[in-house]
Amino acid sequence: MKKLMAANWKMYKTGSEAVATINEMAAILNGSAPEGREVVVFAPFTALEAASSAIKAINGASTGAENLYPAIEGAFTGEISPVMIKACGASWVLTGHSERRHILGESDEFVGQKTAFALQNGLRVMLCIGETLEERESGLLRNVLERQLKLGLKDVPAETPADALAIAYEPVWAIGTGKTATNDDIVETHAICRELMREIMGDKADETALLYGGSVKPANAGAILGLDNVDGVLVGGASLKADSFTQIINA
Ligand code: PEP
Repeated sequence: MKKLMAANWKMYKTGSEAVATINEMAAILNGSAPEGREVVVFAPFTALEAASSAIKAINGASTGAENLYPAIEGAFTGEISPVMIKACGASWVLTGHSERRHILGESDEFVGQKTAFALQNGLRVMLCIGETLEERESGLLRNVLERQLKLGLKDVPAETPADALAIAYEPVWAIGTGKTATNDDIVETHAICRELMREIMGDKADETALLYGGSVKPANAGAILGLDNVDGVLVGGASLKADSFTQIINA
């Protein structure tokens, strides 16, 4: 399985800023993701079309949206459908990012609806899961991951190819805080995630990418990517600049 190197640009970058960053990445990478690596850039809706055109300059790279609404079209003011995302040239979408769960109040059930709908409509999905510090300290780590995975994957069609789905484990307390989980924490938690994935999806669990996210940067990316059960990284802050994200891609 190729390692998935994913950028989450959150609410940063206009279309022209996105293009400038991708062009810089393309120059540093000599027009191709390194062997054994696949790159995906999750960009804001307003930059998605421009980013999707620009990313063609990098072999092995694609774009994704940061959110979707689970309907093809309709009276859903302010929302975006998978058809619209694909029409922008993007092939991926994020679901369940902790900022959407905790700031925008998305429930596990809604995340599950979005995940299934996006897959049914031909997008690849990166489902994000992760516990808060309070949950971890109260011994609820496994319960939270189990609930988020079970409900997040509840209606995923059985025929979904393994490479259409990726799971990103991101401890909420490590996102945007500069605090990375220790390597031991990551190994222990990824083993729990993989075991839960096997319970839910059987053998396909071993072919489904399991990424770590939470303050990944050039200095720690190589070590994290070498850990058991880590099939890639999802990077926020350190993905905004071409030089730091390409150092991570090459780590
Ligand atoms: C994220 O947004 O998914 C993330 C992991 O952010 P950061 O790398 O900034 O912690």
